[in-house]
Amino acid sequence: MYGQGLIKGLSITLKHFFERKITQQYPEERPVLPDRFKGSLTLKVPKCIACGLCANSCPNNCIKIESEKDENNKKRLTGYKVMLERCLFCGFCVEACPTKALLWTKDFELTKYFREDVNLDLFSSYVPSPDDEKPAKPAKEDEESAQAS
Ligand code: SF4
Ligand code: SF4
Repeated sequence: MYGQGLIKGLSITLKHFFERKITQQYPEERPVLPDRFKGSLTLKVPKCIACGLCANSCPNNCIKIESEKDENNKKRLTGYKVMLERCLFCGFCVEACPTKALLWTKDFELTKYFREDVNLDLFSSYVPSPDDEKPAKPAKEDEESAQAS
């Protein structure tokens, strides 16, 4: 039917116009954010294999990774910085991470007094958690082992 989209749009506008108005008393009341909310970034350091896929997938070159080789010639993460001032919050880096080491948080209060404080040092600011101590495994291997069990 011609104009169906217009009627649908207007009906949504009218519905919101007449419904009860809610004013959230932020910051006393904290907002309930959806599960997929993109706030700040966090890194589970023990799960990071320093593969660099996150940095390579970033369209704005925000991620700087430092690593070294251990005694078994395996890469070990020694630094991880995100220039959040350039970040598009596109999520490519989180999607690219094969071990789910890089994740979004719901922290949306990212303003700082000084510009340089906006950027994140995810390696130095990491706080150890027992859940993060599980060995890092690429996601594909996780799926294969789940199917086998
Ligand atoms: S969210 Fe996008 S722009 Fe921001 S660090 Fe990740 S890939 Fe880069
Ligand atoms: S993609 Fe994941 S595992 Fe690889 S360097 Fe980035 S955070 Fe670490």
